[in-house]
Amino acid sequence: MHYDSIIVGAGFAGAVTARCLAEAGRHVLILEKHNHIGGNAYDRLDEAGILIHQYGPHIFHTNDKAVYDFLSRFTQWRTYQHEVVANIPAEEGRAEMPVPFNLLSLRQAYAPEKAARLEKKLMETYGPEQKVTILQLRENTDPELSELAQYVYDHVFVRYTMKQWGQKPEEIDPAVTARVPVFISEDCRYFQDVYQGMPLHGYTPLFEAMLAHDGIEVRTETDARDMLTLKDGKIFFDGAEFSGDVIYSGPVDELFSCCFGRLPYRTLDFRFETHAQDTYQSHGTVNYTMDEDYTRITEFKYLTGQEKSGVTTIVKEYSRAYTGTADEIPYYAIANEATAALYAQYAAKASAFPRLHLLGRLAEYRYYNMDAIVAGALKLSRALVNGTC
Ligand code: FAD
Ligand code: UDP
Repeated sequence: MHYDSIIVGAGFAGAVTARCLAEAGRHVLILEKHNHIGGNAYDRLDEAGILIHQYGPHIFHTNDKAVYDFLSRFTQWRTYQHEVVANIPAEEGRAEMPVPFNLLSLRQAYAPEKAARLEKKLMETYGPEQKVTILQLRENTDPELSELAQYVYDHVFVRYTMKQWGQKPEEIDPAVTARVPVFISEDCRYFQDVYQGMPLHGYTPLFEAMLAHDGIEVRTETDARDMLTLKDGKIFFDGAEFSGDVIYSGPVDELFSCCFGRLPYRTLDFRFETHAQDTYQSHGTVNYTMDEDYTRITEFKYLTGQEKSGVTTIVKEYSRAYTGTADEIPYYAIANEATAALYAQYAAKASAFPRLHLLGRLAEYRYYNMDAIVAGALKLSRALVNGTC
């Protein structure tokens, strides 16, 4: 079989690119290490018949119509607007507070008079429906707003961030905590994007539909590093020189045997629990911002809308440093000056291979949501086939 292009990874980066190139007439081979397609977005039924996300909860959201339209060719959508609460120990048991911290959270945290005063100050300073990052709010010198910033920092950010990153909010890339700003609004949704929802029948069927094309062959349980060799600006596939495009969506350091040292990541341990009850918690995701070792618990039935009585499955997420053992998956790139410099070394090495393209959350070493990956894959594909897809 002759292939025009080889793609490493069957996640969003690889699958979207494969589809676009195949529609432009290319024969594409996908090599995927796992025994399934979908990358981190893979979902499946568990033993109890509950649809779970094996690599953590995935909620689709975007403002990019082109991305939404492209994916809509392969799935219908279930309308779903994700809401998250922070589980906070309180004198009478536990309190649940909307996250991102918003005007309803504020009214929960303070007595009515003080809450009204703070709300007025927030409105005057930043304006209604505005988002302010916790780091920006902490810079405010007004004594009451500064006290509020400290409250949000203490109750929402510092411990969760320590669990997730092993560092304090002010020590990590500001873009990370900016994902969950203080929101001067009564809107309790986690995302405000125009398009949000879940693939009606799940992510895996979406990937199956996307990859169902005569021009695409998928080989699972195949580590690309066993088949591809990069040498002297040339790429070899199965021993023979390969002159087509190679799109690589795995970790870039592994592609070059970690020759400059490993890029650091955070990995996660997921603990799934099935309970003999209709529902386990009040919202799709509950963040543990004050105590417990896990960062959050997600109950899948909220996300998927699956109706199954008497049983539900949840997942608890525990974050730790990635060490590179075979059973670990690198989930989160750690953005800072040192890692940017290390990544640049690998990117420079990759650029010696004109037909090699690094694409996706791992290959680009970026904290991307799914929609950004799809957008990047559409852009690269169009460039590769001169806009014919
Ligand atoms: P991946 O999905 O990681 O795919 C890369 C693929 O390459 C994998 O299947 C891997 O097995 C394969 N691979 C790697 N190396 C090799 C090799 N040597 N040979 C063969 N195959 C290889 N985004 C959202 O928009 N909404 C969310 O709610 C959301 N939740 C998330 C929750 C968690 C816990 C995490 C970690 C991420 C979440 N994301 C979310 C981000 C989302 O997972 C990514 O944006 C997206 O999956 C990245 O797609 P990708 O194709 O770049 O990478
Ligand atoms: N964060 C936090 N408390 C929360 C929610 C988020 O401190 O209740 C911080 C934390 O540092 C986290 C970042 O904001 O890593 C981004 O959160 P998000 O929910 O976007 O993370 P993801 O879903 O990508 O893991």
